[in-house]
Amino acid sequence: MIKSSDKTTFKDKTNYLWKGFRIVQRMVPSLLPATIAGAILKSFNPFITIYLTARIIDELLGARSLSRLAFLIGFALILNLAVFLAQKGMEHIKDMGDYQLYYLGKIEMDQLILSTDYENVEKPDFHLKKQKIDEACQMHRRGIWQLPRLTDRFLTSLCTVVFSMAFAFHAFIPSSSNSSHSFIASPWLSLLLLGMVILSSTYSVWSNTRFSKWVFKRMDRVMPINRIFSFYANLLDDHKFGKDVRIYQQRELISQSYYRFMLSSQELFEHDMAKMQSRFFGISAAISSLISGLVYLFIGMKALVGLISIGSVVQYVGAISQFTTGFSELITSATEIWQNIDYVELYFNFLETPNPKYKGSLPVEKRSDNEYEIEFRNVSFKYPGSEIYALKNLSLKLRIGDHFAVVGRNGSGKTTFIKLLTRLYDPQEGEILLNDINIQKYDYQEYLHLFSVVFQDFQLFAFSVGQNVATDVHYDKERAMECLDKAGVGDRVRDMSKGLDTPLYKIDDDGVEISGGEEQKIAIARALYKNAPFVVLDEPTAALDPVAEFEVYSKFQEIAGDKTAIYISHRLSSCRFCDNILVFNQGVLIQSGSHNELIQDEDGQYYALWNAQAQYYKENSEKARVLGSN
Ligand code: ADP
Repeated sequence: MIKSSDKTTFKDKTNYLWKGFRIVQRMVPSLLPATIAGAILKSFNPFITIYLTARIIDELLGARSLSRLAFLIGFALILNLAVFLAQKGMEHIKDMGDYQLYYLGKIEMDQLILSTDYENVEKPDFHLKKQKIDEACQMHRRGIWQLPRLTDRFLTSLCTVVFSMAFAFHAFIPSSSNSSHSFIASPWLSLLLLGMVILSSTYSVWSNTRFSKWVFKRMDRVMPINRIFSFYANLLDDHKFGKDVRIYQQRELISQSYYRFMLSSQELFEHDMAKMQSRFFGISAAISSLISGLVYLFIGMKALVGLISIGSVVQYVGAISQFTTGFSELITSATEIWQNIDYVELYFNFLETPNPKYKGSLPVEKRSDNEYEIEFRNVSFKYPGSEIYALKNLSLKLRIGDHFAVVGRNGSGKTTFIKLLTRLYDPQEGEILLNDINIQKYDYQEYLHLFSVVFQDFQLFAFSVGQNVATDVHYDKERAMECLDKAGVGDRVRDMSKGLDTPLYKIDDDGVEISGGEEQKIAIARALYKNAPFVVLDEPTAALDPVAEFEVYSKFQEIAGDKTAIYISHRLSSCRFCDNILVFNQGVLIQSGSHNELIQDEDGQYYALWNAQAQYYKENSEKARVLGSN
């Protein structure tokens, strides 16, 4: 569960609030000034009507001067129109700003995900934090997205309170002119009524605070349900699942589960929310109506006994009604700003996720001769939170131009070896050296230039084929085509409607769907385009049959040329051409040598694995032969 901010001090909270305002100001500079101006205009608007209506009524009941009446009406109309237009202008700027803030706030988080240390990305807690921020934004627009709106509400109500006090002030000034109405004119009565207004507003604030706390806590319970809910929603949206859903007739199963989760989520949140809202807000609404009634009675009595004019009744009643709603809204919005800081804090906690990886600054020497040698020296590594070594005491040298194969059963540490080589993780023990210097000392981005890796779970994106190969918007088309040709998918790309410019996947109408094999070849072309001195193939061919895999590996062996190459596979047959075969078992390098050397050791794991797999292929080819002859 994500920690709420119970331990955050008052000072921390105010710091987060200012940080929140600063980030909003940095992202959309026009938003807060427009919010402030809009709030002042919005709160002032009703008072123009209240004040001028009061003066018009007094004029009608008093001197009835036509020219003065015309002036008052004209003035009211012009002022109302001017304020209205200015307010609309501010609202337009605010709406645009809110829209921009929504995306910019999200982009800031996405940028973090793309740039944070890889080990953060593999931590479930990291994603849970983001999910909570997303949900808070989606469902209630809480977090930094709420700040302009809350500021708007707070300032509007603050100005309303100030203006209404100025306009209603005289109603509460005791008048000494007529002692027979001393009860109505008593300052104590005025004070009592004011006190009651403030008390009822405070009660509504207290209800609101409790409600906000309840919502924040409830989100932790709703999150897991929402995660399952979005799993089903994605399932329905993604056409890739269409085949299985039809063949196994899973429509009913999916629909039922989908609705079940939707209902339980609704039950847990929305249904309860309605109940809590009526519990918390019902009583405070009743109290505030009662108090307003008493205040209006008080003003009415004052007019009845002639202490104030009829026009003033309109002014005072209007101003007091504005004060009641304004004061309650002022405290409510202040409390909500305070509550919202928890979400702002979550946002900054996420953006400030620590990057544990040591950042070196040493430039990597640019060598046209590719004389780069990497050495693992007694390297051991456990994944964060795991007690088991994924790699144990690994020592080996990757000499320039050598072609290695790393083999072993699933989970033996092959991919982990590549993750350490490419510094996606740093080892806890031992060191990895590039030309005798610890790789942690090098500038990480420069170090990454040394590697082209095609991972097992490589990812292509819905950009054009060329952009996928070059991983850039502007690229050398001829070179991209050359790499696609070398990877064996050049002709297929030439046949596409827009050639290299054809977008992958059916996200837009021009997009093409390609087979798994074609995807693998494009991923290989991408690795070739990078032209790095180290190339790694980490079982990207797992979906291919052994013969096709062998072909891909042999071809890659040919195109890797004089680069240092590492091939990973749990199929030994694919890697037998390599001079150096490294056999991993439970994180330990247990054997190394050429195929012919390793196969001699009949007690070794390589021999056992080779025979087990050879047996499987023999049986399969025998079956195929029998089926073929029938
Ligand atoms: P291979 O590539 O040989 O199949 P891996 O290097 O992926 O094996 O995994 C080695 C071991 O590390 C396995 O026991 C695996 O479960 C564990 N492991 C892999 N990735 C993680 C991770 N992100 N967090 C925790 N353990 C992991």
